[in-house]
Amino acid sequence: MAVGGQMARNLQREEAHKATLKRSSLAFFSARESEHKLHSLYVLNGAMLEQSIGFSALSEVGDGIALGYLDGRIAYANGALIELAGLAPDQTRDMSFFELLDGFRTDIFDEPVIAVRRVLQTGEAYERELHFPDRNATYGFRISLVLQNSNGTSGSSSLTSSPTNSQTAGVSQPLCLALTVKDLTLLKEYERLKSDMISLMSHELRTPITSINGFAELLTADEGLPEQAREFVTIIANESQRLSRMINTFLAVTKLQRKDRQEVLKIPLRLDEVVKETVASLQTVAKKRRIRLVEQPTQRLPPVAADKSMIAQAVRNLVSNAIKYSPERTTVTVSTALEAEAVRLCVEDRGYGIPAEARDRVWEKFYRVVRDDQDKDEESTGLGLSFVREVVEQHGGTVNLESEVGRGSKFSFTLPRL
Ligand code: ADP
Repeated sequence: MAVGGQMARNLQREEAHKATLKRSSLAFFSARESEHKLHSLYVLNGAMLEQSIGFSALSEVGDGIALGYLDGRIAYANGALIELAGLAPDQTRDMSFFELLDGFRTDIFDEPVIAVRRVLQTGEAYERELHFPDRNATYGFRISLVLQNSNGTSGSSSLTSSPTNSQTAGVSQPLCLALTVKDLTLLKEYERLKSDMISLMSHELRTPITSINGFAELLTADEGLPEQAREFVTIIANESQRLSRMINTFLAVTKLQRKDRQEVLKIPLRLDEVVKETVASLQTVAKKRRIRLVEQPTQRLPPVAADKSMIAQAVRNLVSNAIKYSPERTTVTVSTALEAEAVRLCVEDRGYGIPAEARDRVWEKFYRVVRDDQDKDEESTGLGLSFVREVVEQHGGTVNLESEVGRGSKFSFTLPRL
């Protein structure tokens, strides 16, 4: 249909061209006719000028942009795209859109025809990150369908295909294909350097902290030490332990987000057993804060495929938060439930709650909610929940949060059942 539509437009253009040739030259002598012609010329001139402004603006854009007619010819390619495709400026003149796409073939983008066909059939953009080891380059690559709405405006397929848009704008006609190529090479390099530096720093910090902690602990056991000195070395020991916990959390999150991270090792896992172990290991912490920590298991829960140590750490983070962010004499409940295709784990508290504007942001790295009555010794890195989300999403699950300030929070996540 799309190519048919393009052909119809080509025919229309040709017809119009023929019609002007057939007109008798006498028509030129009619003043009215000439006036009309002149007017049409102005309109045409204006439209062409507008189009050339659009194209000139595209030529200034740093990202590569090309437009292709639906019959496979190139309508436009800017300088950046020609350069990214490794072509000479005049080479695109007789090229087809597919020949242009051929310049970006990689292991994952090996069949341009199939990719374009999918875009035409579904209307959804084809988006990939392409690596070119020979050029040592990474490109953000996108092929999309540009649609013309019945009201004459055009837009990208991914925007106009949403139900609300198509209802208001009527039926959209495919107009052309758009190719956008962003050079991400430098960005990727910076990301890699940053993450290398972070893990190097964290590793380098761990060694001195271990010895500070080790010697401080030795000193706390020394009976001959004056009382005040003993008190001070206890503080040193506790604080260095705290620092080392923070660095470990930080390392765990950065390791998860590294590009070259190892695939998570998934084996059948019973979530209710993880809950039981976590609750048991955190009972002393809860007791210290006078919080009742209870588990509410579900009978006959199917297993999930997961990496036990990662999921256990995620559950531990949620339960520790619930204990940490609740006042004394409240209850924290950890429950599991079976859903259609997933198993859900829920940690509910009657604690401080999280304000609406912070609810989406608590999952971000380093984000922390500031409370008026906050204890200044509260151990907080803002990394615990970002670890939870990263782990859950790597396992194909989702995280969720419901909360009300002053009443409590309910954090939960799902994992696909086996
Ligand atoms: P951390 O606890 O180390 O600060 P997290 O990523 O685990 O880091 O949590 C981010 C922020 O979300 C916390 O600083 C806290 O303000 C808020 N938060 C997390 N869990 C709860 C909870 N159960 N109740 C209230 N606030 C919470």
